[in-house]
Amino acid sequence: MRKPLIAGNWKMNMTPTEAKTFIANFINQNLDSDIEVAVIPPFVDLEIISREIKGTKIKLGAQNMCWEDNGAYTGEISPLMLKEIGVEYVIIGHSERRGYFKEDDTMLNLKMKACQKHGLKPILCVGETLEEREKGMTLDRIGYELTEDLKDITLKELVIAYEPIWAIGTGKNASPEDAQAVIEYIRKKADELLGIGEDIRILYGGSVKSDNIKGFMAREGIDGALVGGASLKVDEFTRIVNFKEV
Ligand code: PEP
Repeated sequence: MRKPLIAGNWKMNMTPTEAKTFIANFINQNLDSDIEVAVIPPFVDLEIISREIKGTKIKLGAQNMCWEDNGAYTGEISPLMLKEIGVEYVIIGHSERRGYFKEDDTMLNLKMKACQKHGLKPILCVGETLEEREKGMTLDRIGYELTEDLKDITLKELVIAYEPIWAIGTGKNASPEDAQAVIEYIRKKADELLGIGEDIRILYGGSVKSDNIKGFMAREGIDGALVGGASLKVDEFTRIVNFKEV
């Protein structure tokens, strides 16, 4: 039985002061206990959030990480640093990292291996551009990303997020039917590559809000959501987590 996961990716938003105010309010919300909830703030907010969520069921994630443990990698953050402050999840290969920061699949495979080595749970993001979708290449692109990023990976617990690039931060969504069809393909491919397709949680991400989450969560095989913009307001993110009540 896969427990649904709803994770809020704050991207480059919220100073430590703002993060503290957010989390102080969020931990007092009555969250659906059937849903696993994670917040994924910028690096400088991790420590303060980690302290505030102690003793709650809220999980902590990081938005990125270096593949090395330490060394001459100016500007990078290592898996050891993340582990020490209580990080459990790490987003690997968000389309904004692939696009703006030129992270390629070879690098992402190294990051996946670093998660494996240190017992961090990756949330591996895959998804197609609008052009690829229009050319009917969605599954080719995602199949390629999965094959490359999961090379030599033997992790027993990982999360994959299907995030169509054209739906991120745009207010446009994949329809729940389309998301379900791609997620079905991802599960089959992950099973072929790792032999654990049925155990992997696969999330949908791309302009998820409180008024559309229910449609995604109603679909068999969609195990939760990676939420960007709508995770920045306590009320809205709470409504998303508590979608069954809406
Ligand atoms: C994301 O950052 O992963 C994301 C899906 O963003 P948004 O919800 O804002 O589209």
